[in-house]
Amino acid sequence: LDATRHAYKLLLQGADTLDAAVAAVTLVEDDPNDTSVGYGGLPNEDGVVELDAAVMHGPTHRAGAVAALRNIRHAAQVARLVMEQTDHQLLVGEGALRFAVAQGFKEENLLTEKARKIWLYWRQTRGPSDDWLPPPLDKVDPEVRQYFERHTGTVHVACLNAAGEVSCVTSTSGLAFKIAGRVGDSPIVGAGLYADGQVGSCGSTGRGEANLAGLGSFLAVELMRGGASPLEAGLEVLRRVVKQTPARLLDEEGRPRFDLKYFLLAKDGRHAGVSMWLPARYAVTDANGSRLEEAAGLYHRPPKQ
Ligand code: ASP
Repeated sequence: LDATRHAYKLLLQGADTLDAAVAAVTLVEDDPNDTSVGYGGLPNEDGVVELDAAVMHGPTHRAGAVAALRNIRHAAQVARLVMEQTDHQLLVGEGALRFAVAQGFKEENLLTEKARKIWLYWRQTRGPSDDWLPPPLDKVDPEVRQYFERHTGTVHVACLNAAGEVSCVTSTSGLAFKIAGRVGDSPIVGAGLYADGQVGSCGSTGRGEANLAGLGSFLAVELMRGGASPLEAGLEVLRRVVKQTPARLLDEEGRPRFDLKYFLLAKDGRHAGVSMWLPARYAVTDANGSRLEEAAGLYHRPPKQ
């Protein structure tokens, strides 16, 4: 909510839609309590935080991205500079870091104590066939206990101004405990985000591999171009993902065992959030104020006992 509020304020002051979206995402990247984005994000399997981010500017149809970026918390700002100040679209790993340092970004350790403890507990409890032993439960920090299940998360922000211009940004620390070097959907244009100046935008969070195979954000925008509403387009993309999901990732009722969400914004201001699993919500700020709106979706999680 704070991020969308901030972006809206900047848009009212006349900021470019991409600048407003990057500024909103920067707030989330700075938040140490968000364990899925920027500083405080959960690390890869070696305990090292690696960030993925991308930006796309609707009016010029340009994009920039970084992947597996270490030691720099504002990955979206670096992605924006890749778009603006290079002839490339995607920089990864060591090269992305060198580019960021050349642009004046400060290197720092992105692993907070909280994220280190969550990672350590995951490492200690991976299985019986290595030399790590699970710690006694009373030695596990209560903060860590809520992360016993593998968590996902990402931030996507889309901005539309009064002139009908749209841009968007996606930033993430990716799948927690991923293999080092794994790149998800977030920095891949067409998958983690897509914006078309004539139509609107879409971005995603959730299991990146499920989205990458079908380029869900590109598909969503193309469906909107063909006349679908943001809601219809989002639900159709989710249905396609289900059809393309391998059996090992489906439950006994044929439903994906993972979550995936899309956030769609049409050039005329209509928007929707869709989620494989409900309930889910997304933040909106517009002339009617800031609020969380319910996403639509395909399946309902059983209520917690
Ligand atoms: N989509 C992100 C990725 O696959 C992770 C997430 O949103 O949870 O890297």
